[in-house]
Order: sequence, then C-alpha cells, then structure tokens
Amino acid sequence: MLEIVRIPVLSDNYVWLVHDTVSDETMVVDPGEAAPVLAAAEARGWTISAIWNTHWHPDHTGGNAEVKAATGARVIAPAAEAAKIPTADTLVGEGDVVRLGDHAASVLEVPGHTAGHIAFHFAEDRVIFTGDTLFAMGSGRLFEGTAEQMFGNMARLKQLPPETTVYCAHEYTQSNGRYARVAEPDNQAIAERMADVDRARAAGEATVPTSIGLELATNPFLRAETAEILAARRAAKDAFRG
Ligand code: ZN
Ligand code: FE
Repeated sequence: MLEIVRIPVLSDNYVWLVHDTVSDETMVVDPGEAAPVLAAAEARGWTISAIWNTHWHPDHTGGNAEVKAATGARVIAPAAEAAKIPTADTLVGEGDVVRLGDHAASVLEVPGHTAGHIAFHFAEDRVIFTGDTLFAMGSGRLFEGTAEQMFGNMARLKQLPPETTVYCAHEYTQSNGRYARVAEPDNQAIAERMADVDRARAAGEATVPTSIGLELATNPFLRAETAEILAARRAAKDAFRG
C-alpha cells in the first residue's frame, strides 16, 4: 500500500511524501523546501531514497540539494529540463516507468506550464501526481507552452479512471473555483463544490487531493471542449481578480 502524506511548504505549495509499506521505501514529490520534508519523514521513521520532480520551478525543486545531502536520495527529473535541474540523477520522459517498491508509475509528458513538465501516474494504485499541470478546478499557467499543448494534456488526463486520486502541487482551489463559477455560471457541481471549499478554507483545511471524477464535473480547463475555449479561459483566469 502507498501511504501519502501532504506537507504544506512555502506560501501555498504541497509536497507529497510517499511511502510504500511493503518495501519500506519512501520518495518525495517536488520538495520546494527541505526542512519540513525531512522532519515529516523522520517523525514517521521513514528514510527518503528518491526525489521525483515534475518540473524545474524552484518551488518544486528548491529542497532537492538539501534532501539529497541529508538522505542520499536520488533525483528523478524530466529529461527535457535537465539543464535547469542540476541535482538530477536520473532523467525520464514519456513512457518511462519509475518505481517505489513494487508500485510502478509511468511518466506522462504534459508540456505547457513548463516545456518539459511531467506527471507520474501509478495506474494500478489509481494515483497521479500532476505538479502544476492539473489543479483542483484549475490548471497551470502557460509559461513555456501553448494552450494547444495544455488541451492535449487535458485530453489525456480525462481518459484516466474517474476514481483516480489527483495530487497537485498547490492549494489554489478557492481562487480557481471563483473563476470556475464565472466560466461556467450554470454548472451546479461547481457551485456545490465551492460551498465545501469555502467552508474548508475558513477552517484552515486543505482541499486537495482531488479526483479525476470531481475534476470532470467542475474543472473548466479539463472540461474545455476545444483548445480555443481552453485558451480563452486561460487568458480570462490570468486576468481574473475574484
Ligand atoms: Zn510551477
Ligand atoms: Fe508551482
């Protein structure tokens, strides 16, 4: 079984500490900071042996060097971003398989937020780590790619089983949801979800992970019927002050 622990770091990032109870192996996804990650592992008696990066941004890789120095962990990173992740040991791309114990994750290339962004999909476990590509009710900004690329990513993510749990890298749900209500004013599922999200945030609770099924019902980027609609929603969200 995979045990997955959410570690809030920086202003709104989530680092995911992932432990396989059978092999006793532990890895961490996108450690933007090291100290809270090392503390969370130590508190559980876990030893981190790998760091998995979805993309090069410092809020996802900033803790790599310190976690490596403290644990000897190996860094698995997107091949297309090797030059921007100097701590990388193993470079991966589309179709590669990375393992934690007996759990296999396939690498999906999901460019757009950054040119080499990847996701890690544990198909058998029904778990995906999407970094800054798919968020709860949102998707990543297009810093190094196009709306067409992001639309292609969404088309792939839509095909995953709806019960797949989605571990994204930021607590952006409330702000995403405020825009989602404007993008799809008649979508009752968004309105209902936002009531839950507002309550959770007022209580200081996290709103992720999410699931493919919930996103299929409430995410205006995953739900965009065409790349043009996705592009228009992206531009509107970037300018949105809700
Ligand atoms: Zn990012
Ligand atoms: Fe980020």
